[in-house]
Amino acid sequence: MIRTLALVLTLALAAPLFAASSEPVPVVMDQVIDAALADSSAYALLEELCDVAGPRLSGSANYELAVEWALERMTDAGLANVRREPVTVPHWVRGDESAWLLEPHPSRLTMIGLGGSVGTPPGGIEADVLVVSDFDELEARADEAAGRFVLFDAPWDGYGRTVRYRTQGAIAAARHGAVGSLIRSVTPARDCTPHTGVMSYDEGDTIPRIPAAALAVEDAARLHRQFDRGLPVRVRLEMEAKWHDDVLSSNVVGELPGRESPEEIVVVSGHFDSWDAGCGAHDDGAGCVIAMEATALLHRMGLQPRRTIRVVLFADEEMTQTGGKAYAADHADELANHVAAIESDSGAFPPRGFTVSGDSLSIAKLAELAAPLESMGASSVSAGWGGVDISFLAKAGVPLIGHRTDNEGYFDYHHGPSDTIDKVDPADLQRNVAVVAALLWALAESESPLR
Ligand SMILES: [Zn+2]
Repeated sequence: MIRTLALVLTLALAAPLFAASSEPVPVVMDQVIDAALADSSAYALLEELCDVAGPRLSGSANYELAVEWALERMTDAGLANVRREPVTVPHWVRGDESAWLLEPHPSRLTMIGLGGSVGTPPGGIEADVLVVSDFDELEARADEAAGRFVLFDAPWDGYGRTVRYRTQGAIAAARHGAVGSLIRSVTPARDCTPHTGVMSYDEGDTIPRIPAAALAVEDAARLHRQFDRGLPVRVRLEMEAKWHDDVLSSNVVGELPGRESPEEIVVVSGHFDSWDAGCGAHDDGAGCVIAMEATALLHRMGLQPRRTIRVVLFADEEMTQTGGKAYAADHADELANHVAAIESDSGAFPPRGFTVSGDSLSIAKLAELAAPLESMGASSVSAGWGGVDISFLAKAGVPLIGHRTDNEGYFDYHHGPSDTIDKVDPADLQRNVAVVAALLWALAESESPLR
């Protein structure tokens, strides 16, 4: 009798933990959301990542500190098969850098070198500045560019259109003989802060590689006004930036193994590298923590889905995307079993929903799966981009899902020194964990997946 009672008690205690997985998917999704909203682990994790590893530039020692941290935290969370997967990544080091306005009056400029730029000779480059608003104006004034810096003071026109000056400015300026390329920071913010990001050179190497840097929006505007007044505008730019040999780094992986079809995989991911300004709190420490926490939360609730959930923290998204490419190559033989891949790289702002790259059938199916997220304001599903790192899975036909937030404020911090933990709202971060965890359950548990 006593033994039977003990057994009943044990079952009763165990029941709430394990019964959930036999309930309908939308019911469990609601339970997952409730559990996530009652939790505050995500912010503590992100804060710890920012404090322990700091900015996580590809190839840096900081990035490796972050890898150690993630391995430990995923193991603590009870995830299985926690491991590094080797990736050879580029190693660019910024070094010291500065820019000074020499004429019409001396003053220090607020600048940051663009990722991948060459440095200047020691002592820097001193030259007059040609200021233009866009590529068309440079073409119109091309004969004035030789021997000068070209400053692209391009107004913010959304990220996709404005970022061209960062990625293509050095090529356009050097084509006309400029000695350096300066841009107005790619941000709508007015906070006297410079924002970096990757730039590029002519692949064929027929156009010279000139140093490239961003100025704070206010400084770019000042130089532009001075130039329009007909004042002499002369700048000295000094950058130690240098490319070193590639280094061996890693993606970090951990799993919640599937209960019935462990060979079928749902990837949930973010990119673990960041720029060296700020600490990559929104971009993309948040996405990585959301992926880790969403999976850990399901495990803490005793939920084991039908399929395997695999957390992947990708190396080197910001520079050359070797992390995403390595994952696609190293897992080529199991990509046919990848049911879906989610990437979270929109910052920790209020969740809005998901974009999916796939046929109309997958879009409709994802909309059906995401419907229970309506209470969170996150049920919107539309056709669109999945994410940089998971994009390499497209060829194998993996449905790619981008986790979207209401991130109007994102580009105020993006790639700048202010992308720090204090800009992250703990409640918003936790709401993102809630919706990603709930969607993960839907994708890993529903009978008919997206493909
Ligand atoms: Zn990012």
